[in-house]
Amino acid sequence: MLILKTIAETQSACAQIRGEERILGLVPTMGALHEGHLSLVRAARSECDVVAVSIFVNPTQFGPNEDFGKYPRTFDEDCALLEREGVDLIFAPTVEEMYPSGASTFVLVEGVSERLDGASRPGHFRGVTTVVSKLFHIVGPHMAFFGQKDAAQIVVLRKMVRDLNCPVHLIVQPIVREMDGLALSSRNRYLSEKERRQALVLHRALQKVEEAVALGEKSSSKLIETTRVVFAEEPDVRIDYIAVVNPDTLENVPDIKDGALVAVAAFVGTTRLIDNTVI
Ligand code: AMP
Repeated sequence: MLILKTIAETQSACAQIRGEERILGLVPTMGALHEGHLSLVRAARSECDVVAVSIFVNPTQFGPNEDFGKYPRTFDEDCALLEREGVDLIFAPTVEEMYPSGASTFVLVEGVSERLDGASRPGHFRGVTTVVSKLFHIVGPHMAFFGQKDAAQIVVLRKMVRDLNCPVHLIVQPIVREMDGLALSSRNRYLSEKERRQALVLHRALQKVEEAVALGEKSSSKLIETTRVVFAEEPDVRIDYIAVVNPDTLENVPDIKDGALVAVAAFVGTTRLIDNTVI
């Protein structure tokens, strides 16, 4: 397994792989890897000849008062996990390598970038689309693998790929959960034992939505009310948003007749968690 820190080395290694007509897959991550990330790696392993994983805690997608400084960094363990999964190449640049002083070009997908997490975290998706397009230019993958856990991110990236004609096929993998339903997240490491229990309310709320839909409920406002009732069981958990939206545009929909994405974000203590279900 190659571990590369510079853009020049990575660009040339990846150009050689593509030159040999081998299918190259990229799994972009911020490290602190868990089974959710590994599900993407396994999908890439099964679809591609060569698997590259990037590990980069991207400062441009964090707000000024967010957790960039304390985001978990577990590089050695990450490398050991990826080696075991048969990954071929890790690209792990420094912040200076990715954003040398004076860098002032950003990629912004207007509209969708301001919805859901983009509304709660201004500038977040501009950071995501900027770093992902840089990674696409550096690695030049045929396929890139992302998790449904970050549902709004998928919508923003799909639009970026379409609008900018990126020659990359996006593959989305389902949310990986703990046995008790909590969606895996690098940020779950921040939770105390008590918060870990409280955090289950996100999944419970979405399960109630699924049950209500199975019983015939179609109204978005009724479904949102259903989630609020469940969230009320954990008064310490602060709802950031509960949204029933069009899965392609992230715009609110009045009902779920044509299908919808139900997404929630909430603060458990100071930790912001997200989860979603497609109905
Ligand atoms: P991150 O390191 O948090 O930026 O995540 C890297 C990739 O892993 C993103 O495409 C995420 O959507 C995906 N991911 C994170 N958590 C999960 C999960 N529980 N299940 C599936 N994919 C996930």
